[in-house]
Amino acid sequence: MSNTILVVAAHSDDEALGCGGTIAKHIAQGDQVTVAFMTNGVASRLDTPEHNTNATKRESAAQLALKALGVSNFHQFDFPDNKMDTVALLEVTQAIESVISACKPDTIYTHFGHDLNIDHRITHKAVMTACRPQSWSSVKKILSFEVLSSTEWNSPSINAFQPHYIVDISNYWNKKLAALKCYEDEMRDFPHSRSYQCVEALAILRGATHGFEKAEAFFVERILDV
Ligand SMILES: [Zn+2]
Repeated sequence: MSNTILVVAAHSDDEALGCGGTIAKHIAQGDQVTVAFMTNGVASRLDTPEHNTNATKRESAAQLALKALGVSNFHQFDFPDNKMDTVALLEVTQAIESVISACKPDTIYTHFGHDLNIDHRITHKAVMTACRPQSWSSVKKILSFEVLSSTEWNSPSINAFQPHYIVDISNYWNKKLAALKCYEDEMRDFPHSRSYQCVEALAILRGATHGFEKAEAFFVERILDV
């Protein structure tokens, strides 16, 4: 039986960095995948011509990246980039609830709750709020992903990302890489942690430490066995 998957990412590129290989694997397995982006990923004054051009460019990059992963369903919200803390959590939660009620996912992938990036943390909190475990909820599994240059950048005094759900993406690495290439402007030169080399190094580490060539690793927020 196929699964229905929802990926909730603060910015377009987070889905590729955090779970691009896993998305491609779900698609190959015949699962339905929807991706929701909470911001347009462009931080500047709204409604200026430059902002609008950059936002359009970022959205085109996202569409190409999703195509590379095989995803055709996505929602683009317009919450303020890097300023989601200026919006009421209720509003963000309601936006996520609208996507959940439209696609009725059994599994959700989203941000880790202790990332450095504020939009990541708010997206996480809004997902958890939208997915309060009620008997009528379709959501049975919530996994949070790591995004290099955010998950590992928070204070060591805060809970570190300790994954315990591992997905073998050895056969889907090329698709993840193809998606990342669509976001070339967001990638940085090595040794920045959001470089192609470091993303591949992490995939190798997550893979080889569990007996695979490459893997993506997740923190389990909830699994309901029903
Ligand atoms: Zn992000």
